[in-house]
Amino acid sequence: MTAPETVEVIAALGEARFVGGAVRNALLGAPVVDIDIAVPIPPDETLARLKAKGVRTIETGLDHGTVTALAGTHAFEITSLRRDVETDGRHAKVAFTDDWALDAARRDFTINALYASADGEIFDYATGVEDLIAGKVRFIGDARTRIAEDYLRVLRLFRFHAWYGRGEIDEDGLRAAADAKDKLKTLSAERIAKELWRLLEADHPGPVLRVMAATGILPELLPGALQVLRLERLVALDAENGFPRDPVLRLAALLSDSEEVARAAASRLRLSNVDRARLEQALGGDRIAARLSAQEARRLLYRLGEACFRDKLLLQWAGEPAKSPAGAWRMLLDMADSWQRPRFPLSGRDVMLAGVPEGPEVGRVLAALQDWWVEGDFAADESALRDRLKEMIRQA
Ligand code: ATP
Ligand code: MG
Repeated sequence: MTAPETVEVIAALGEARFVGGAVRNALLGAPVVDIDIAVPIPPDETLARLKAKGVRTIETGLDHGTVTALAGTHAFEITSLRRDVETDGRHAKVAFTDDWALDAARRDFTINALYASADGEIFDYATGVEDLIAGKVRFIGDARTRIAEDYLRVLRLFRFHAWYGRGEIDEDGLRAAADAKDKLKTLSAERIAKELWRLLEADHPGPVLRVMAATGILPELLPGALQVLRLERLVALDAENGFPRDPVLRLAALLSDSEEVARAAASRLRLSNVDRARLEQALGGDRIAARLSAQEARRLLYRLGEACFRDKLLLQWAGEPAKSPAGAWRMLLDMADSWQRPRFPLSGRDVMLAGVPEGPEVGRVLAALQDWWVEGDFAADESALRDRLKEMIRQA
């Protein structure tokens, strides 16, 4: 918040304050990732002032008062003070204002309605600082009313509690959230997925997910039987072994082992093709046991690829931690890390040169040859493979 480019943007805007996550996290001493800025001027004025000082801008969402400023390597979201005039649970019609307290009142939680001037003065229009210290995630105003304005706030309650809450979830908020669960299907997949992702990235998403499961909120979002225990164990494994937090894998841990469930979850959350394929592979097909021989492990690594092997291994480890010693799992992980995919030296061309006429048979012979090579632990070299190919053709 004191970086030269930040100072430059604030100076160009004149009266401006940091708001939301940046202020909250700075007070907590937690990392500040993106910086939101609030200004008491309408968006066209924001644009004009930034342009006058030569700051690059993007018209992100002028209707909602948001302009993005680019300075150095940073992007700043600058939003005009506003109040919600009309809400329908998903969208809001907004009006711009120069009243800071009105802008604070339209925000969701007290801890998210904190503002700070460039020289570090804090403006707290609700009970944000107090609640931040106490670890309370509380709606500004009546929980039911605030949730009915925007049902995404149901998920935000859980997400922010997982990150910043201590103890139980706020009682009023939880009751209002549970009562609104059937409204979640009216939200766009993208908004839901984004909140779910942030929740899964928390240090300890388990307790919150338990409450979401018990209140029937989680089943509104995800298909199949949910395995919160497996997710909690995966989270513990991440912490014990220093693995990076991986929301896709955490989602996989939460779901049941079925390609169909994976596909349903991916469509509901409208995941990217890459994430969808990963989820389907991780949850479908064969599982990995801790007691694999080195040869079986190499075979699976070749069949699944290293990334999928790791995913399946971690899911299985988290799913049955007591059954096998951690050392056995770690050894398999080490194998995956150092594994180099052996190259199959022959191609369809070689099969044709050996006498198989062009057509589907070429692929079948090649696949059978490759299977033999894999089952033989990749020991056969090019000339051994050519001999085997000749023999296969003779026998056919
Ligand atoms: P993070 O560190 O996760 O980015 P954040 O507080 O910046 O946390 P955002 O989702 O980026 O969270 O939103 C920025 C701010 O905008 C919030 O702090 C809050 O004041 C306000 N806000 C965002 N979404 C809503 C919403 N659905 N309802 C009310 N206020 C919201
Ligand atoms: Mg943010």
